[in-house]
Amino acid sequence: MTNLTNVKWDEFPARADPRDQVSKNFVFFELTKSETAERHAIDNAFSGATTAQAAVYLCRNVLQAVRDAFGSYSPNSVYRSQALERTLKKKRKPWVSKSQHAKGQACDIEIPGMSNIELAQWVTENLEFDQVILECFNAAKGPNSGWVHVSLKPPGKSTNRRQILSYVMSPTSGKYVYVDGLQESP
Ligand SMILES: [Zn+2]
Repeated sequence: MTNLTNVKWDEFPARADPRDQVSKNFVFFELTKSETAERHAIDNAFSGATTAQAAVYLCRNVLQAVRDAFGSYSPNSVYRSQALERTLKKKRKPWVSKSQHAKGQACDIEIPGMSNIELAQWVTENLEFDQVILECFNAAKGPNSGWVHVSLKPPGKSTNRRQILSYVMSPTSGKYVYVDGLQESP
């Protein structure tokens, strides 16, 4: 276990020990951890330094900032390899995921005991971000329903869009759709 908190994000290696410290409260393993990958024996290691470095940048500027504000939690999902994306989305090769998770630029988070709409709101008001998406939040199912997707592009990539969306059930089609702003599912 090595403390890598002082290694600059853009000098971070693609591979590190799972227990190596990336920021004050997060270790390398948490950036690639996936229950689905474990269950299906899918390799979810970073594809290279670019994806690892993006995830380290996201970790230090989003995951750690949220941890500093609200206390201990573990991200649901950060990096997802193309193989993992295909499994999650039930696609076959040569389908390629465009998700920012596959670039190391996105995380899905929840804070125990905190409403996900409040968490999403806090991120939009306090952090730099590319996209914040309140996903599947339904107050009728309780404040912990759904999760918050946050993406952040590291410096040198195109500018962060600061886009705020919700992924909600459309009452007309019965399917999930993206809508502007932070909204709960009807
Ligand atoms: Zn996500």
